Amino acid sequence: MDKYDKVTELAKRRGFLWPAFELYGGAAGFYDYGPLGAPLKRRIEDIWRQFFVIQEGFAEIEAPTIGVEGIFQASGHLSGFSDPLTACKECKEIYRADHLIKHIVEVPDALSNEEIYRTIKENEIGCPECGGELSEVYEFNLMFKTMIGPGGKTPGYLRPETAQGMFINFPRLLRHFRDSLPFAAVQIGKSFRNEISPRQGVIRLREFTQAEAEIFIDPRDKSHPRFAEVKDMRMRFYSQEAQEKGVEEEMTFGEAVERGIVAHETLAYYVARTYQFLLAVGIAPDKLRFRQHKSDEMAHYAADCWDAEVLLDRLGWIEIVGVADRTDYDLKAHATQSKVKLSVFVHYDQPVKRERLMVKPDMKALGPRFKGKAKAVADCLKALSPEDRHSDNKFHIMMDDGEEIEIDSSLVSFETIEEEIRGEEIVPHVVEPSFGIDRILYTVLDHSYYEDSTDDEIRAVLRLKPAVAPIEVAVLPLMDREELVSDARKIQEELRGLGMRVDYDTSGSIGRRYRRNDEVGTPYEITVDYETLEQGTVTIRDRDSMKQIRVPKWQVVEKLRALLDGCLRFEEAGDPVQSAKE
Ligand code: AMP
Repeated sequence: MDKYDKVTELAKRRGFLWPAFELYGGAAGFYDYGPLGAPLKRRIEDIWRQFFVIQEGFAEIEAPTIGVEGIFQASGHLSGFSDPLTACKECKEIYRADHLIKHIVEVPDALSNEEIYRTIKENEIGCPECGGELSEVYEFNLMFKTMIGPGGKTPGYLRPETAQGMFINFPRLLRHFRDSLPFAAVQIGKSFRNEISPRQGVIRLREFTQAEAEIFIDPRDKSHPRFAEVKDMRMRFYSQEAQEKGVEEEMTFGEAVERGIVAHETLAYYVARTYQFLLAVGIAPDKLRFRQHKSDEMAHYAADCWDAEVLLDRLGWIEIVGVADRTDYDLKAHATQSKVKLSVFVHYDQPVKRERLMVKPDMKALGPRFKGKAKAVADCLKALSPEDRHSDNKFHIMMDDGEEIEIDSSLVSFETIEEEIRGEEIVPHVVEPSFGIDRILYTVLDHSYYEDSTDDEIRAVLRLKPAVAPIEVAVLPLMDREELVSDARKIQEELRGLGMRVDYDTSGSIGRRYRRNDEVGTPYEITVDYETLEQGTVTIRDRDSMKQIRVPKWQVVEKLRALLDGCLRFEEAGDPVQSAKE
């Protein structure tokens, strides 16, 4: 068994991750989070909230998971969110066509379907299963389609990302943030993609959880007020240039921006925050890198894009987060589709004075000609400038009632006026950190999985950070006897009263119970034994060192809180137990 098998097996056996619908034969690409997986996931999401909602002041919203067609017409998902497929003409198995030529072409994404098919033919690639001939390459849209209502006329789509919920609520969000930039909204929720071959556990799911932030910024100034807080942080950057050389380059964020490696401060700031978040939930820093998209891989509208990638034993480097500057692409696309203005009026610090040549209607001439309409005609003309004159030397205006009127230039004069410009309408740019929570959760399991060899056995342990552990402490009476159980129960209740995640376990030998908790990542165990009755003390065991200390039972709850919060070192929390029994 390699590490992937071991972690997957443990996750299934201990109730972290269960393949969904097993009772009915299962379906690839769907997983259940079991009694330990669900709280682990929730705690990772809560830390994400701490980082991106509480500490950044972003607004969390919750939009429907089904969206109407217009959204995905504008976002490009209807026309472009598809994978190229090919089918075996013999056994009918279906494959991602671009995957079949990965070993021949470096960036298959950049090829058209015809080019992929030609490459398959030229290299005599057959069906990986039976060797049969492969069909021409065709597109398969990854969105799940459904119908809204009983009429069957209104199509709906399960959202393939949470981001659109923030874009289409832009006008309301802008108002919520009192009409000024920058501001940001986030969503943590389910996304759906009908993936072609979801075979890598929770790495490629058909229903998965994303946490995305859309940060709307002023395109004229992409500095960030809190950049100073991260600028001296060091990290390994796998930039476009570094990828050509094949080595990552370590530097500070300040240097990365100064040298133009990361496009600007705001993007760099959120790459740094992403890095801090990933370390906080327990991703191993030596198996984490930030890789810049190559120019042929970057979306045409993106100004810059960095993926957080993690190293997983069997799967290699896997993307878990993408942080991109998406410019004004999404807002402009939705404005065009919906015909609603999606921009912000930005006030200048000082009003700017500007001279403008404007049209001055001649009321004496317009009055008799247009009578009751003359004022409305004059107002329309005032909004025009001399360049609006057509080649026939006339102005063409449209009245509110839809009537088109032509006005000869002889009915107006031109005058230069000085105006005070207080600001301008701008379409914000968007910086988007997009996190795949399931992939992060799997990586946390993988990176915290260790095996220690003791004399006669291998001890599997999940060295989860206390902040994400689904069980923070196990309370274990040495024996299932009334005199031990009553103290243990009391401690358990007190810990739960403080909001801690406690497990209470009396089954099996104490050694087996310790092993069980090691395997699910419980940081500490409290054992109530006969000394508790004689001396009033209990033991606390540390998962990682397997060392034990003794503390008075009236102090145990307070000490445990301090240990979990990281403000007390284990060695200093009590008297060491010399010959701790496992
Ligand atoms: P994308 O919109 O494709 O850039 O995806 C954003 C993030 O969502 C990625 O970094 C992944 O972590 C996650 N993700 C994308 N597709 C899947 C999937 N099929 N299953 C699980 N996570 C996914």
